[in-house]
Amino acid sequence: MALESLRDLYVEELKDLYNAENQLLKALPRMTKAASSEELKAAFTEHLDVTQKQVERLDQIFTELGVSPKGKKCKAMEGLIEEGKEVMQEDGDPSVIDAALIASAQRVEHYEMAGYGCVRTFATLLGYEDAAALLQETLDEEGEADKKLTELAETVINVEAEEAEEDEAEDEEEADGEDEGEEMEAEEEEPAPEAKTAEKAQLKKPAKK
Ligand code: FE
Ligand code: ZN
Ligand code: FE
Ligand code: FE
Repeated sequence: MALESLRDLYVEELKDLYNAENQLLKALPRMTKAASSEELKAAFTEHLDVTQKQVERLDQIFTELGVSPKGKKCKAMEGLIEEGKEVMQEDGDPSVIDAALIASAQRVEHYEMAGYGCVRTFATLLGYEDAAALLQETLDEEGEADKKLTELAETVINVEAEEAEEDEAEDEEEADGEDEGEEMEAEEEEPAPEAKTAEKAQLKKPAKK
């Protein structure tokens, strides 16, 4: 299709997003499977439901435009998903794999946010107010998903990394022959100085094991 008008571009970009979302519908269950953290699994599962509704919104917009949503392949999403697959094929520390899955998923969310931000603006410029509102809803959802993933990266993953460090600290104490009563107290007090560095050290951790 020749891009003669903003409407042509709007339709092309919508088709790209429609294809991108449908690729994600297939990829998200695989990402859920590959995740170890229950919270991350839940976040991916929830975003699958959200993605389903986003496809329905696009369907509605295409129906009102009287245009078929089919006929475009989003190569960027294909590439992002391809990189995500590389992560899933890696062996390694489950919490580090989870962090890598989050990194992949956030790239996807940012790509979607850019796409929806554009079509939302085009819809507004073209006077399609209902479509602009629907696209804004999706844009907000992608933003929420991104924020949730940032939270998970900062909490769940690092908490697990800290727990792994606590386990190591316990092992060291046992090796030093400390009695079990003191060990319980130490578990709460000792990791504090290490916890501060846990975030930075996290990705280097497997080498320590
Ligand atoms: Fe989406
Ligand atoms: Zn695309
Ligand atoms: Fe890349
Ligand atoms: Fe999304």
